[in-house]
Parts: sequence; structure tokens; C-alpha cells
Amino acid sequence: MPPPERAPAARFPVADPATGEAFDEAPDQHPDELDAVVGRAHRAWHGWRADPAARTTALRLAADTVESAADRLARLLTREQGKPLAESHAETARTAARLRYFADLTAPETRRITDGRPVHSEIRWRSAGPVAAIVPWNFPLQLAAAKFAPALAAGNPVVLKPSPYTPLATRLLCSLLADAFPEDVLTVVTGREPLGARLAAHPGIRHVTFTGSVPTGRAVAGAAAASLARVTLELGGNDAAVLLDDADVDRIADRLFWAAFRNCGQVCMAVKRVYAPARLHAEVVEALAQRAKAVTVGPGLDPATRLGPLNNAPQLARVESITAQALADGARAAAGGHRLDRPGWFFAPTVLTGVPPGSRVVTEEQFGPVLPVLPYRVLDEAVHAANGTGFGLGGSVWGTDLDRAQAVAERLECGTAWINHHAELSLAQPFAGAKDSGVGVAGGPWGLYGNLRPFVVHRPQEPCG
Ligand code: NAD
Repeated sequence: MPPPERAPAARFPVADPATGEAFDEAPDQHPDELDAVVGRAHRAWHGWRADPAARTTALRLAADTVESAADRLARLLTREQGKPLAESHAETARTAARLRYFADLTAPETRRITDGRPVHSEIRWRSAGPVAAIVPWNFPLQLAAAKFAPALAAGNPVVLKPSPYTPLATRLLCSLLADAFPEDVLTVVTGREPLGARLAAHPGIRHVTFTGSVPTGRAVAGAAAASLARVTLELGGNDAAVLLDDADVDRIADRLFWAAFRNCGQVCMAVKRVYAPARLHAEVVEALAQRAKAVTVGPGLDPATRLGPLNNAPQLARVESITAQALADGARAAAGGHRLDRPGWFFAPTVLTGVPPGSRVVTEEQFGPVLPVLPYRVLDEAVHAANGTGFGLGGSVWGTDLDRAQAVAERLECGTAWINHHAELSLAQPFAGAKDSGVGVAGGPWGLYGNLRPFVVHRPQEPCG
């Protein structure tokens, strides 16, 4: 008798945001597969954690591999994410940079505790165990590497789950890295929910590192509570840019515009609200609106494109609804204000003025190419409003007197504050949101430490001491 035919493995479609049409598909893995995946990761852990020098070599090789496959990775990333090809190349380069940075970081040295007691106590740092890395769709490769590079450097195996909107470049990345890492040290799983929820709750996972929205972050924290795995949550933001009355609008307009509109506004640390002194307000609106009207919007693979589409249909619907509500509340669109009449998920770059402070585009994270510019009369009011949401990821202050700008920046309740810049990050800095924007610390040596656990050996100086 012929063997029974196996059902074809389930797959789900992946769309090109520039057309709105599916162009490929990815495996729709069933959550029940996670037991086997996490089990294999556990077995791979024993060899991987034993040899720090081999980890350094593997991570460096991984960085080289990403660089030599940059064209393939960048094209596929643009195809599924929508961003302009130059931005995909920049993201691929940042992916390699993260691998190289963590390749060369080492765990803290063994330290002796000297507290006067007649004992010999030593603190060592050990790998914490299998890590679940759950990633959103706005920077699929860079954010994946920001999670798996420190976890692997610390000696932990990783199960990586990309967003179902952007699984393909991550799958390609992991298949390219298969030659750099031992089997099952880095595994990618793709599929629709509840795959992520089940991964976060899996009893074999010791650390869940998640980047995404605040509501999903809360769900992940709840799921991880089942196994008491530690969580690192990098969540949403609603960053304010506060312009001071000595800001030179001509000089800052380009940088401010791109701080809000890069990646079509789909950046956790984008400028999402601008507070301008009443005296400069019209000039700021005009400078930003001019740029919004002039920027070339189109498919990411077109070399002329500076702004691509939104990544997915629900995100376009959300941006459309938040903008429509602001306009209904009495705001005026100095540029844009509507979706573009073409295939794909394009929204016109939008600058809003006259927005009531309680409007959703001010209080929520719009995560799209829409920027409200709000006037203020008294600086304290602007700082109060900047701090007035549940978010606390980043913020910036723009002015010519740097000491005064810094004094204002230090009043922002957020993880990183910039002066005359926004979202410029160093690999060596801690990355941690305040308030609802995050739990735990990623980035720099802290990103590595978050994947280690202390182990203390306590021995007397005499056999029976
Ligand atoms: P999301 O929260 O919807 O999804 C993020 C990831 O979680 C995806 O892989 C998704 O499939 C998965 N997921 C969905 N439900 C889950 C569940 N119940 N349990 C476990 N995993 C689940 O976010 P998104 O829409 O993909 O990304 C946009 C959000 O990410 C924005 O809020 C943005 O600010 C945030 N973000 C934050 C940072 C940061 O570093 N702070 C960086 C980038 C993006």
C-alpha cells in the first residue's frame, strides 16, 4: 500500500506593500511545533555556552556573511517591508554592525567579593538559557540582530519570531547564517498568532525579548509570567520635539522632517509631535509642509523614491482613521491628509496644524507619515505636554543656546533625549524606554548582561571554617 500522503505544510501569503498584492509565502508553523524547536535549542545550548572564543568567531563570520549578501537581503527587505532600497541597505549594514559589536563584547570578569568575612566568594556570569526573540515589521533585520546578537554572545540559543508581515528577509538571513552557527543555536519560526503568544509562554524559554506595541508587550509579559521567564520589552513611543524660541528653523527643518518621516514614520523613536513657540509656529509648519509636498513617494525599489508605502493594510487604515479624526476635530492639513489614489498602501506625507491637544494623533502613537505641529506660549506648558502621555521612549529639544536646550532636555521623561537631533543611537548606549515604553535594558553591554545570570560560589578559607 502506498504511504498516506502528507498534508502540504501550511503557508501564508506575504504582500508587497507597494502593490498590495501577495508576491510570496512563508511557512505558517503551528504552535505545537514549538516544543520540538525549543527542545532542540536546549540541546544546542550545552555546546554553545561552553566556548566563548568560538562564539566570537561565529558572530564575526555572521557579520561578514550579512555584508556579503547585502544586496539580496536589502532587495527582499524592501519588497516585503516597503522602505526605499537605500534604507534597506542601511538596515542591512546596521544588522552586520550589531553582530560585530556583540562579537567583541565579553561577559564581566569573575569578581571576588571582599566584605571582610573570612570566606572566598566569587561572582561569575553564566548564560541564562534559551531566548525567545519576537520582532515587529518596521526594522525586521536590524531589530532581530539587536536581540539575537547579544543573546548568542552570552551563550544562549535563540528562537526568533519575525512579524507575519515581514518573515522573508529574516528567513533568508537565518538560512545564510546557518554556516556561521552550530545547528539549532539560532532558529527562525514563522506563522500567525498564537505562535508568538505560545512562544512567549513556552516553559523552556528563560528570557523573552520583545519589540512591538504597548498592548502586545503587556500580553507578552503576562504570557512569560507563566514560566517566570525574564522579559525585556522595547515598546512604542510618542516622542515629542520641543523647539525653543531661538531655534533656527531653516537650519533644522530637514533634520526635523526626516526625524518624523523616515521609514514612512514607522519608527518607534520617530518625532511624533512637534511643539513650536507661537512666534515660530507658522514658519515651522510651512517649512515641514514644503518638504512633505516635495518628497518623492513611491515603491521602495524605484531609485527616485524617498518615502515608501506603509507596511500593511491595517496600519494604513489606522493612520487614515487617526488623521480623519484630527481633521474632524478641527485640524487643518498643511500638506497631505489622505491616502494616495494608487495601488499599495500609500499615504500622503501629512503635516497637521490646529490640532486639539486631546486628539488621538497627539495622545496615541500614529506610526505613519503624519505629524502634528502644536503651538505653545510658555515653555513649561510645552514640557508638561511633551511629558503628558503614557509613553517615554525618546524626546528632543531644538535651539541655538545648547546649555539652555540641555536644561530643557533633562526635564523630558524618557529614555534618551537629544539636542538638535532625534533617534541618533550608539551601539554602545543603553536603550530603555521610561513609563509604558519599555521594561529592561537593551543595547551596549547592558544588552549582553540582560542575557546572563549571576552565579556565586561561596567557599570557606578553612575546610571547616
Ligand atoms: P505588534 O506588537 O503588533 O507585534 C510585534 C510582534 O509581536 C510581531 O512579531 C507579532 O506577530 C507578535 N505578536 C502579536 N501578538 C502577540 C502575542 N499575543 N504574543 C506574542 N507575540 C505577539 O507590533 P508591530 O505592529 O509589529 O510593530 C509596531 C510597534 O512596535 C509600534 O508600537 C512601535 O513603536 C513598536 N516598536 C518599538 C521599538 C522599540 O525599540 N521600542 C522598535 C520598533 C518598533
